Amino acid sequence: MTKNNGQAEIASCPVCDSGDIEVFVSLLDIPVYCNVLWPTREEAVAAARGDMRLGFCRDCTHIFNTVFDPALITYSEDYENSLHFSPRFRAYAESLAKQLIETHDLRGKVMVDLGCGQGDFLRLVCKLGGVRGIGLDPTLDGETGSRRDDGPITFITDSYSERYAGLKADLVCCRQVLEHLGAPRDMLATVRRAVSGRPQTGIFYEVPNALYTLRDMGIWDLIYEHISYFTPKSLTRAFELSGFDVRGLREVYDGQYLCLDAVVSPEGASPPAAADMDGVAALVARFAGEYDRLMLGWRGRLATMAQDGRRAVIWGAGSKGVSFLNAVKAGDNVACVVDISPRKHGLHVAGSGHKVVAPEALRAEKPDMVVIMNPIYKGEIETSVRDLGLDAEVVCV
Ligand SMILES: [Zn+2]
Repeated sequence: MTKNNGQAEIASCPVCDSGDIEVFVSLLDIPVYCNVLWPTREEAVAAARGDMRLGFCRDCTHIFNTVFDPALITYSEDYENSLHFSPRFRAYAESLAKQLIETHDLRGKVMVDLGCGQGDFLRLVCKLGGVRGIGLDPTLDGETGSRRDDGPITFITDSYSERYAGLKADLVCCRQVLEHLGAPRDMLATVRRAVSGRPQTGIFYEVPNALYTLRDMGIWDLIYEHISYFTPKSLTRAFELSGFDVRGLREVYDGQYLCLDAVVSPEGASPPAAADMDGVAALVARFAGEYDRLMLGWRGRLATMAQDGRRAVIWGAGSKGVSFLNAVKAGDNVACVVDISPRKHGLHVAGSGHKVVAPEALRAEKPDMVVIMNPIYKGEIETSVRDLGLDAEVVCV
């Protein structure tokens, strides 16, 4: 069901409370869960949809969905967003794990992972560093609030809240979570209270980098589940306003993510520094102008290929692939979606209904073009395509 007619329902910035918000791009009637795949095509096509009208905060440069409806989103055990099967991503995760162990001297200590997914990263840190782990995530198996011990790790099936403020940690790690929250500063305030008695506790957050999306025209990075798109400025502001000292902020993974290190500030919330508005505002204006051109360009290209009897497939049933298929309304002009994760095979993409298959299935599909979502994986995907004996063109969106 579509709601909202151009009116921003969230009129103030979730980071800095400013009301100076400019709506610059709209995606209507998109699936609310890009990372949930469905057993049948019918269920996938009938999946819940919502609208996105992205607003740009002219005070802190934050970007967010001004018509986000939290009632449409609940995270359950069916939620699948692990990138753990990609070698490139695994290499990144391993180097990040080693870095955290080193920087925070974690051997024999405790790391709490807020929103740990299925625990892949937490397991890695614990294995590499002899660390004890506590992982919370509502998508873990088991009743809400239940605990399960797995070697050095305790998994808790729940979202982080005041209820878990008593968990003692040497490092609080939270990756790819803050952008999903309607009130990110509420979470930061809870963490601040939880660690206020242990000022030496390290705080590490990782979020997608909105500047990368804007610079790189990553129009397929826009997904309903992401309410917030943090810029370096807005992420820093969120932490400073929540009573943290930001010790480090860096772009990683070819600029796609922002990593932030912080500790509790003894002074509490600090006043905002001036944001570099012009740079981000110019990127926002360019993005808005290019969005339709790119989206319509791909829609036409796929239609022309289909008319010529040539076959296109998408590689990657992650959120970008799902966004792409729905935004360009690919329909029958795309044969199927390939993914290396066996967890996804045989399932269907929310909204568009495309079936997810294993790479080996391409031998029968004989595609002329393999469309990939992320240049970072081009090398490994090209190798896989050649290993399957295919001469399909591998193209990045
Ligand atoms: Zn703001």
